[in-house]
Formats: sequence, structure tokens, C-alpha cells
Amino acid sequence: MTDATPLSAIRSDIAKAAGRAGRASSEIELIAVSKTRSAAEIRPLLQQGHRSFGENRVSEAEEKWPGLRADHPDVTLHMIGQLQSNKAAEAAALFDMIHTVDRPSLIKALAKVVAAGERCPPCFCQVNIGEEEQKGGCAIDDIGALLERARAAGLEMIGLMCIPPLEVEPAPYFALLAKLAGEHGLECLSMGMSADYETAVMLGATQVRVGTALFGARGS
Ligand SMILES: *Cc1c(COP(=O)(O)O)cnc(C)c1O
Repeated sequence: MTDATPLSAIRSDIAKAAGRAGRASSEIELIAVSKTRSAAEIRPLLQQGHRSFGENRVSEAEEKWPGLRADHPDVTLHMIGQLQSNKAAEAAALFDMIHTVDRPSLIKALAKVVAAGERCPPCFCQVNIGEEEQKGGCAIDDIGALLERARAAGLEMIGLMCIPPLEVEPAPYFALLAKLAGEHGLECLSMGMSADYETAVMLGATQVRVGTALFGARGS
């Protein structure tokens, strides 16, 4: 019997994986992916002191988070889902980091936010690391040009993000993302989900995005 919560168990797994890789666990941010979860499901994590959360839809986040943030103003909110250009300004106002900058049209929309003197959070470039046809993310060969375009527009680009192909060993994809971040001089790596966050931490993740392992299976 143990009174460990999923949160404390995952934090401890992250610390162990970091230790094996010779890293400090303070280098790794655990993002609790709260998409589809109600405020009532999120509050216990806030009560346990957790402050970093991820959502994949702007409208859902706008419904849930202003209320939760009223009680916990120090929450950090991450946009981890595909972002439509027409929602870019709303996302920039609501989120503290955007993980899914992957194309010129979205950069253009965020550039308008910057040009208007509005708040625009630090961004990751999402990379289609498995070069999958149906997947979001920019092509590996386009990372350099996209970063250049984003920076020219005044965006703060801090790292790379990926979702590796399903049902294959993710380690080679995480290693590749880490190598690409190094080549482009980027510090942050958003990679690793419920099934593979320890592997991601071993390979250099600075942000892991964990939903199911924290909250249980999502309903359909
Ligand atoms: C849903 C989601 C996650 C979390 O996935 P789990 O397998 O539930 O941990 C992480 N990243 C992104 C981009 C997601 O959409």
C-alpha cells in the first residue's frame, strides 16, 4: 500500500530518468495535459501544487482556465494542439507557451500580434519528425527557414516539439529532435507523453506532456 499519487509517481520517474542521464530534474517541466478534463478533475492537481498544464484547443481552454486561474494566478498554460491562424491572437493572449508553430501562415498571424504590441508567448517549432503525410509539423528540411521567418517577425523561438509516429520505438525520433535542436542552437525540447516520457527525459526533453498517466484514460 502506498499513498503516492500519479503526480508524485510521475515526478519521481522523471527524477530517476534525469539522474540516469546526469541531468537535474529541475531542468524538466512536467506539463499536465488537461484537454477534455473538467475543472473539477483539474483542481486536485492544483491543490497538490502542480502549476503547469497543456491544452489542445483554444476554445476549450478559454472556457476552463480563466476560472481556475482566478484561484491560481501562477499557472503556466501551454498550447500543444494544432493552432488555426484565425485563433492565433486569442492563443497568444491566453497561453504562456505555444508548442505548435509549424507554418508560415501561422507565423504571419502571430507576427500581427507582435506588431500590434500585444503579448506573444515564447514558441516551439513543431517538427513532423517521422515525415508522416497526415501529421502536423514542419518538414525537417524546413526548420531553418521557418525559424528565420519567425524570428524576423519578432517571435521568440525557444525550442522544437514533436509527436513521434505511433506504435514504433520513439527513442530514435527523440534523439533526432535533440540533434536538430542542437544544430539550430535551441535550448528547449518538448517531447515525451504518457507512454514514453522517461525515454524522452533520458534523451534531453525539457518539457514532457503527460495526460493519461496523470488523469486516467480519456473518454471518446
Ligand atoms: C493529448 C496529447 C498529449 C498527452 O498524451 P497522453 O498519451 O494522454 O499522455 C501530449 N501531447 C499532445 C500534443 C497531445 O495532444
